[in-house]
Amino acid sequence: MKMKQFYQKMAALVLASVVFFYAGVGMAEERQPLRVGINTLPSLKSPIDGSRDQNQDYMRLLANYAGMQAVFVSDSWTNNLAKLASGEIDTIANITDLPYRHAFFDYGRIPMSLSTSMLYLRGGVATFDNPDRTRPLNIGIIRGQYTSPRLGPVLNYEGFSYTTQEFEDRKHILAAYDAGQIDGCSLDTQLPEDLLPAAALDTDPVYFVVRKGNTELLDRLNQAAARLATTRPMMFADLYDLYHSDGAGAPLLLDRRERDYLLAHPTLRIAVVISEQPYAYLDENGEFAGGLRAVTDRIGADLGIDIEIVPVHSAEEAYADLADGTADVLLNSRWSPGWAGEHGYMQTAPFTTSYFTEVTRRGGCPARPRIAYWSQRLADALIVPRYGSDKLVRCGSAEECLRAVEENKADVAFLRQEVAQYQTIAGRFPGLVANGTVAFSSRSAIAIPQEADTVLLSILDKEIAHMGQDVAGVAVAEEQQKLFNNRTLSSYFFNYPQYFLLGVLILFLLCGAAFYRYRRMKKRNAAHLQSIIDSDLDTGLRNLAWLEREGAQRVESMPKGAPLAAVAIRAMRPDIIAGTYGREALAELCKRLAGAFEDSSWTHLLATRASTAEVFLLACAEEKKLVPALSLILRQNESQQVGHMLVRVPLEAGICYLGDPRMELKTAVNNAELAAHEAGPVTVFSSALQRETLLVSRMESLQEQALAAREFHIWYQPKYDLKTRKCIGAEALVRWESKELGFLPPGKFIPLFESNGFITQLDFYNLEHVMEFQREAKRKGLPVLPISVNQSRQHMREEGYLQRVQELVDVYSTEGIELELTETAFDVLGEALRVHSLDIVQRLHGMGFSIDMDDFGSGYSDLSLLNQLPLDVMKIDRTMLLASEGSERMQTVLRQMIELGHALGMKVICEGIETEEQEQLLIACGCEYGQGFLYGKPMRRADYENFWLNHFFCGMNDAQRVNGDSCR
Ligand code: C2E
Ligand code: MG
Ligand code: MG
Repeated sequence: MKMKQFYQKMAALVLASVVFFYAGVGMAEERQPLRVGINTLPSLKSPIDGSRDQNQDYMRLLANYAGMQAVFVSDSWTNNLAKLASGEIDTIANITDLPYRHAFFDYGRIPMSLSTSMLYLRGGVATFDNPDRTRPLNIGIIRGQYTSPRLGPVLNYEGFSYTTQEFEDRKHILAAYDAGQIDGCSLDTQLPEDLLPAAALDTDPVYFVVRKGNTELLDRLNQAAARLATTRPMMFADLYDLYHSDGAGAPLLLDRRERDYLLAHPTLRIAVVISEQPYAYLDENGEFAGGLRAVTDRIGADLGIDIEIVPVHSAEEAYADLADGTADVLLNSRWSPGWAGEHGYMQTAPFTTSYFTEVTRRGGCPARPRIAYWSQRLADALIVPRYGSDKLVRCGSAEECLRAVEENKADVAFLRQEVAQYQTIAGRFPGLVANGTVAFSSRSAIAIPQEADTVLLSILDKEIAHMGQDVAGVAVAEEQQKLFNNRTLSSYFFNYPQYFLLGVLILFLLCGAAFYRYRRMKKRNAAHLQSIIDSDLDTGLRNLAWLEREGAQRVESMPKGAPLAAVAIRAMRPDIIAGTYGREALAELCKRLAGAFEDSSWTHLLATRASTAEVFLLACAEEKKLVPALSLILRQNESQQVGHMLVRVPLEAGICYLGDPRMELKTAVNNAELAAHEAGPVTVFSSALQRETLLVSRMESLQEQALAAREFHIWYQPKYDLKTRKCIGAEALVRWESKELGFLPPGKFIPLFESNGFITQLDFYNLEHVMEFQREAKRKGLPVLPISVNQSRQHMREEGYLQRVQELVDVYSTEGIELELTETAFDVLGEALRVHSLDIVQRLHGMGFSIDMDDFGSGYSDLSLLNQLPLDVMKIDRTMLLASEGSERMQTVLRQMIELGHALGMKVICEGIETEEQEQLLIACGCEYGQGFLYGKPMRRADYENFWLNHFFCGMNDAQRVNGDSCR
């Protein structure tokens, strides 16, 4: 198709340039006009601008060759005759040679074209199948013009009679046809589409004519025509092609004999050589496919017959099949009428043209290449004359040729362009290239054995003319497109290596860049993450985890025997600082503290933990230097600026030497922290402390089972009326009589249970025990003296505390039960929790419990609590008593405290009275009740039962006190 268009364009170009050239010459010389009479027919318009029809084109060329300028004058046939006679025009084109006409004009010597006389009928060819023969057909002809002598025989042969009717010209014929006056017409060229051709009658040469006797012009034109025919032997074919190659093809006009033949032979067996994809091949289902398949399909459809394909692999095989009658015809026989005739075949007109191109290995081929060829005939006719016969490599198929080149058995293969392209581009032979240059062309025709009925030849020729030259080409192109869709990746690589390389390069760069970015981000993120992990969020300084990790390495690098120590410095009661001044204050405090240690020569690493108000150091100094140095810094920093206030923040430090062999830094830090919790500003971790630590952890693991095994016992310490010296009640104090650890006072385990929360369970156990004690007393009919039970501050956060208490109250009663709470129960973070704690106490009071404020005056006394809480008893701490002993000032404070208690309607009791002097002091200060070793130490239940009975009813004298005797 493409090739066709290419040739059309070339022809047009040549034509246009010739016209232009002569036009140019004419203009320069003022060329003489050649007035040509024509009978314009609208249907015959060239697709190319400027040309009118084939005959006009010829006359233009002729005029050019004669040195004249063609001028066309359009008129009817008779008018043109008159104009020629009168000299108005010089020539008429396209005239059939009829003897009578020689009287009117002189004919040119060389025909200007061939004209086919056609019979047009209203029903086209189908009219011949119409059985209605009652009426003769009325056929229109042009008066005075050539009417084919075959009109009668053809119609008669088809079984029709007819009459003719003459008309002035084509226009009148068409009008009569439209008016239904005629059934058809006989004319020499095709008419508009509503007239259907029924048969081609005959074909005659047509000539230009001049006025009779105008020998000068005739000679001039004859000479020009002769020169034109010599210099342009292909001119008629070119012009025919120009006007008849629009794909429509010639009408398929089979005559009766041909139609009868097809009726008698409804199947045509066509041999096809099928080893060329996409030209002709067997597809995956074994079906004949490729460009040639379109041709056989078309033949079958047009002729209305069945086509049976006989696939063969070589032309030799095909001719053998024709000889033994396995096939009727061979489809793709190389067109060469001479060869065919000599070998006993008839050949149709060619139905397709193949252009052969070279396929070589990448990198070209040598000057005298070895040539792989497939068909013997191809080599004989085309290759041998050109390249000689000494370097031929015979192959059985197109693919075999390519393989020969690929394997270096040959250097070049000649293949049909489509086949070469497909095989190289589709990727089966990535190492080969088709250079695309047309080396030679070969046309294919259908071969028919000479013995066959010649009618078949004319049928197939008509079919080929009808089908046109494009069918196979178009189908091959479509096929190729389809196959290209399945191209392999390697074919893309071989066909576009530069893009592939570029792609790979870009990909490589992108990957590199991505990897680099990833590495950098990872590194940066890791560093960022590490810095977050390593820092104390409150202070922004390094945290303990960092110190332990970094310190472990530092320790490694230090010389053996260096006095390395982990140091923990803590601000006491950080919860109070945070609750009062906010968390920021803690962070600020830690930062300042860290700043204080930063510059000391013995500090190696420093970390903070603001949440617990601690600073940790890895220090290197002997104990005798480190302890005083630390103590000094602690003292200097005990007063801290918090906001606008100077606040006293007690600081404590713990030191743990890593020793030799060195203990793990982590352990050392833990030990230092533990030591920091010991009393005293600076504590060095010791083996005793170590034992303590071990004990603590042992206690923790035993606590649950100890409770279950009833190892906890309540001891009772009596409370006294200082004046009457009578026992007025007791305080319940817990002891742990452990099977494994021995006797343990509360000071050993309460802080641990406070910190691990176990205290809440233990308190309930104790409370129930005491409630049971009171119930028992009541049951026995004894007076119920109040017993106070300590309640840990942890209950304030305990979920369901009140409910559990209520459950106990429901079983026992609140009668004779006082609850002791310390002020620290209300040292809580945040107002909400404080309100909650106050609320709990209110409710306990509401349940009927007396509430004692234990350890009053021991630490951070918040006098406002006295107002907010429903307190029944103020229990003054022993430290107040001790402080008052030597100080008048403190005595005043004590007295005022007692007065305040009374003023608020509370009973006031002082604990820890050991001496008479203390007793006197208290009495002098107005205190009414006391508790202390002076009256009685905590004792077992049975002892207390005896004791209070002895001391309830009468006061105790001095001797009794000392001996513990009963007053009764
Ligand atoms: P606390 O409630 O202030 O109890 C008074 C402590 O002072 C008792 O110590 C008692 O033995 C001691 N004491 C009494 N008179 C004297 C004296 O004349 N001189 C001296 N130096 N001390 C005296 P204990 O029994 O060792 O209890 C210590 C603390 O343990 C109690 O202080 C209390 O806070 C806590 N505790 C004891 N039992 C329980 C309990 O069942 N639950 C809770 N949550 N805490 C308890
Ligand atoms: Mg107490
Ligand atoms: Mg107390």
